[in-house]
Amino acid sequence: MSDPEWDLDPKFDFIEAHRIATGSRVSLDDIDTQMEGPFRGKDHGRAFTHQAVEDIRNLQYRMFTEAKQSLLIVLQAPDAAGKDGLIRKVLGQMNPQGCRTYPFKVPNSEELAHDFLWRIHACTPAAGKVSIFNRSHYEDVLVVRVENIVPKSVWKERFELINDFEKLLVHRGTRILKFYLHISHEEQLERFKKRLDDPTKHWKLNAGDYDARDKAAAYREAYEDVFEKCHSKDSPWHIIPADKKWYRDASVAAIVRQTLQEMDPQLPSIDADLDEIRRLYERESAELQANKK
Ligand code: ATP
Ligand code: MG
Repeated sequence: MSDPEWDLDPKFDFIEAHRIATGSRVSLDDIDTQMEGPFRGKDHGRAFTHQAVEDIRNLQYRMFTEAKQSLLIVLQAPDAAGKDGLIRKVLGQMNPQGCRTYPFKVPNSEELAHDFLWRIHACTPAAGKVSIFNRSHYEDVLVVRVENIVPKSVWKERFELINDFEKLLVHRGTRILKFYLHISHEEQLERFKKRLDDPTKHWKLNAGDYDARDKAAAYREAYEDVFEKCHSKDSPWHIIPADKKWYRDASVAAIVRQTLQEMDPQLPSIDADLDEIRRLYERESAELQANKK
């Protein structure tokens, strides 16, 4: 499926490089944010992504027609780490008939009147579909914890509730891929500056983003707990080095493509009588030709 021109070191496995190991605690500070993987620079990475996106589209088409399996992609990240760019350039390139993005913001009063998974469950993918979560139920053990929105006795029970919820989705035939976009403190500030310098990005500016920067250590600890408690073979986390936007896009595209290849969606079997349909076509086209004369 891949174009040989962009073939990479065949030993480089994006899933192995970025999927976290089960049962060990991740230390985000020890993970490189600037990695370039097997690529010979930005242009090589971008060309690879282009091909991977094409392959993802074809595989998603098969999954849509098969209408059995589904895929849930969860994106979590600090502000300005590039969730929007990744969706625009990679994930949002799938056919919108079978793929939808759901951004999760501060819950409204109706959502708050239900359990924390109520609004999430409603957005999970039906058979044949892909859901992309821009933020997710993990906010309920991240921002909610760091900002003390609910007491510890409440949020600490949620890790297990999340695991049970995700097991339910897997049981129904959903593959889950969870991505954390990992940027450095320095790169984040640089991106905040670019937003300040660009009037078309001013709508993204938010004083609260600086507050979250002050709480970076608390967020880091909260994320590390998530990676420890809510990672499994069937619902894995990947930590994506995201200082280089092109590497972020290429590595996520590679992991999504490999996962869809493993899912191996099949075009549906044909009930229609093809010989009969061919006969009908030939009759119509002969009639059309005859009328032209
Ligand atoms: P950007 O990276 O462009 O800033 P964003 O995902 O931060 O995008 P915003 O509209 O800035 O989008 O912020 C959404 C906010 O909603 C985030 O601060 C997030 O923490 C908050 N949020 C999401 N889910 C919850 C939740 N369950 N409880 C409280 N806050 C939440
Ligand atoms: Mg924000």
